Amino acid sequence: MTPQRRAVLAVLSETHGHVTGAELVERCRLRDPATIPSTVYRTLDVLEDLGVVRHGHGPNGQEEYHVLPDAVHGHLHCKACGASWEISADEASSIVRSLDAERGFEVDLSHVTIVGRCRSCRA
Ligand SMILES: [Zn+2]
Ligand SMILES: [Zn+2]
Ligand SMILES: [Zn+2]
Repeated sequence: MTPQRRAVLAVLSETHGHVTGAELVERCRLRDPATIPSTVYRTLDVLEDLGVVRHGHGPNGQEEYHVLPDAVHGHLHCKACGASWEISADEASSIVRSLDAERGFEVDLSHVTIVGRCRSCRA
């Protein structure tokens, strides 16, 4: 394992929740100014294959990495205030089941982002 990869792992181990690739590159740079972005992204690919991280997409299509996710989840995004929330597999089960039954389509919940308006923005 190269020092760069070790640096990426060290940064990831201090990270919880969601982080974009650009944010990770930034954090790795604070630790090691010689960080090469492509190494960070390659390491993320390897770690995703190993199940350590998982990616989804924000409302603008940007990749977001979930570090050690407890469970696969989707996202709600409020276009008015920009906040986002996680949707559990339970909450999504009705649409996931109906798409499976009606269309034979298997939903990848980690890639589901539903955009709309949250309760407080509607009030
Ligand atoms: Zn993707
Ligand atoms: Zn809102
Ligand atoms: Zn998430």
